[in-house]
Amino acid sequence: MKALLVILFIPFMAYGHLKNESHRPKSFTFPGGKAVFVDFTTAHYAITYDLTKKLAFIKASIKFRMPEDGSPVFDSVTTPTSIALNGKSVTATERSTPLNETTLRVLDLSVAQGNHTLEIDLPLATLVEFSETGVKSAFWTSDLKSRQFLERYMPANLEFDQVKMSFSVRFLGLKNRQMIYTNGVVQEKKRDEFNISYPSYFNSSSIFFHTVPEGSVDEMRFGLKSIDGREIPVVIYAARSLWGTQASNLERLRRETTSVFHELEADYGAWPHPSLVIYNAGLGGMEYHGATMTEFRALGHELFHSYFARGVMPANGNAGWLDEALASWRDGGYKTLSSLMGTSRMSAHPYYTRTTDTAAYTFGEKFMSLMDGKLKSKGGLKPFMRFMVEKKLFSPLFVEDFIHEMSNFYGVEVGPDFKRYTFGNSNTFESFQKSAESELIHRKMSIEELKNYL
Ligand SMILES: [Zn+2]
Repeated sequence: MKALLVILFIPFMAYGHLKNESHRPKSFTFPGGKAVFVDFTTAHYAITYDLTKKLAFIKASIKFRMPEDGSPVFDSVTTPTSIALNGKSVTATERSTPLNETTLRVLDLSVAQGNHTLEIDLPLATLVEFSETGVKSAFWTSDLKSRQFLERYMPANLEFDQVKMSFSVRFLGLKNRQMIYTNGVVQEKKRDEFNISYPSYFNSSSIFFHTVPEGSVDEMRFGLKSIDGREIPVVIYAARSLWGTQASNLERLRRETTSVFHELEADYGAWPHPSLVIYNAGLGGMEYHGATMTEFRALGHELFHSYFARGVMPANGNAGWLDEALASWRDGGYKTLSSLMGTSRMSAHPYYTRTTDTAAYTFGEKFMSLMDGKLKSKGGLKPFMRFMVEKKLFSPLFVEDFIHEMSNFYGVEVGPDFKRYTFGNSNTFESFQKSAESELIHRKMSIEELKNYL
């Protein structure tokens, strides 16, 4: 019996140490090779802003595990200037996934299963603006187009992979002080040198990072008392206006933040993050772990995302609609529906899709209203959402995992409802019905627009 057990355990032990293995995308073949999605164990980014030369560059040092032999996959929108694998110079090619869902970078050589180190150098030119007083730079993201998470700025893995990330940030030729707003722990080593460390549950959509010369923004700092006893440090900031300080705007944001914070804690439990960073700027908003860049009207929506999206996290594009549907359901006042026309393909995009279907904001909300109605006798949807925050916080999931948890929670098979309304062949007319308010909250800015808010 003992011998049999040992044999049975071997296959599990071989892969059991990999994080997020159940959500790692399948390998695919390309002419002359096999692209293998890897497990980043640590990623350190040395970020240098040369204020004299007005240039910025990044050196990424990534330790990763290959689960099987093949060519490792990572992503970086910017073409690297050099790549070294285990100290030896290599190259990588941009390749499309089998159904052209997305583009990735794949190393041009086959690597054995096991641990490896990748060192990648590249310029940082996206959302970087030098001036006489210093530099403005941000790593803002979007989930409505492919390749707009951390890979927009530096080499990163896909959303399924959680990785311990750290930055060392240097400002060469610094005159004025630089401010850093981020959702990691910042250590000021020198006036021009900072180390930032992020939690190990972060992925490529988690990091909020923004640096500006001192004096270009106004900020308000305060604490919010969590129901679990912690004092959560909050910073709210906004660009200093030509007409004076942002004092009254920041006060209005503080009041709204405080109100939404307590509302969310009452519904879904203690604030999931160690801090809260709010940049009031732009049109619409974008969410990060315990952080957001947002306009006033989207503030509640984005703070909700610290529970669903950056709390209960999607592991791929087809799971991205869940948190948008739930956030929109809250925005709309948690309405209940007894019937719903039409269908959508929110859960059914091709396998390697990395983006969120925007039907989430409209049809997705209605679907959650419908499920709330169907489950009314069992307390509706909110108790399940609270349960998910307790059970699945910082564990990326597929839509199938969500369905499984919901069916177990209520003792009702909800799979057929998801299949009917979210695994369709196309989005029907009902999926496109948008309200003006919803359009404004979910507006996503282009890089050109984002530049205006650096
Ligand atoms: Zn949203």
